[in-house]
Amino acid sequence: MSIDWSKLGFEYIKTPFRYLSYWKDGQWDEGTLTEDSTLHISEASAALHYGQQCFEGLKAYRRKDGKINLFRVDENAKRLQRSAQRLLMPAVPVEKFIDAVKQVVKANADYVPPYGTGATLYLRPLLIGVGDNIGVKPAPEYIFTVFCMPVGPYFKGGLTPTNFIVSDYDRAAPQGTGAAKVGGNYAASLLPGHQAHEHQFSDCIYLDPETHTKIEEVGSANFFGITKDNQFITPKSPSILPSITKYSLLYLAKERLGLEAIEGDVKINELDRFAEAGACGTAAVISPIGGIQYKDNFHVFYSETEVGPVTKALYEELTGIQFGDKPAPEGWIFEVE
Ligand SMILES: *Cc1c(COP(=O)(O)O)cnc(C)c1O
Repeated sequence: MSIDWSKLGFEYIKTPFRYLSYWKDGQWDEGTLTEDSTLHISEASAALHYGQQCFEGLKAYRRKDGKINLFRVDENAKRLQRSAQRLLMPAVPVEKFIDAVKQVVKANADYVPPYGTGATLYLRPLLIGVGDNIGVKPAPEYIFTVFCMPVGPYFKGGLTPTNFIVSDYDRAAPQGTGAAKVGGNYAASLLPGHQAHEHQFSDCIYLDPETHTKIEEVGSANFFGITKDNQFITPKSPSILPSITKYSLLYLAKERLGLEAIEGDVKINELDRFAEAGACGTAAVISPIGGIQYKDNFHVFYSETEVGPVTKALYEELTGIQFGDKPAPEGWIFEVE
């Protein structure tokens, strides 16, 4: 294995082991680790035709003492259950989910990047409807799998700000599947994302689908802004994916940085309120937003080249906890034994 940990981006790398479990006749089998990275499924699988699938994303962090941390994995397990419920899929029990993730991390421990490189092991739990079926109805069988790969920053800049553009498209409908972590939301985001990249933006920002006046999220990360009078504000909407990172930052902003932490409206024509802004998520961690293009107007927050002080402090608090350098709020860290 020859991996330059410092040069990793966010790309698929095949690691030796993944976890695989089948649901059939109303129950999950025990699940097992396998070296086979190919799924063998029916051509008539509901996941392929009707998008009956949902997923999760979380990371394993190498600590200074060599041990490995997981961050709030129980929250990922619960969110997968909520996504599954929305698409009429069987729930993966929380304990089974956590056990699967731990097994995969342990089996691929050589691929958990060393402490200090900034890189992590990204885990991708996936739940898909499989088995023979062609009518629009839930699949007769399901696969739950967890695979992993070492990754670096999701947005190229890391802690260097990048720019975003407001999309004319919607990511999710008001009572649709925006709050579920499902592939269909991402399929719908490929074209707007592609257009954003073509114009040299990191990604697009979606507005609320009902009025197109408020920021919803980035499409793979949630949005937050820091006002000039020290409020941490992140949008509240039923069509936003409830980011675990976002909820962690709401807590840390208040409890550790003494900011007023608010879930509320972020109006696209009131960006002047904000001294800083960023995108947050497991993959994105905290990615500072340099500026936002909205129609003909380009709004710069703190700077297009430098991260603002509050965003940086939040980043250090969050990653310090994840890598085991700072004390974690109770229940946030799960050590992989
Ligand atoms: C996964 C995801 C996020 C980030 O959620 P985290 O729990 O912080 O990783 C944000 N937006 C969307 C659309 C997502 O799918």
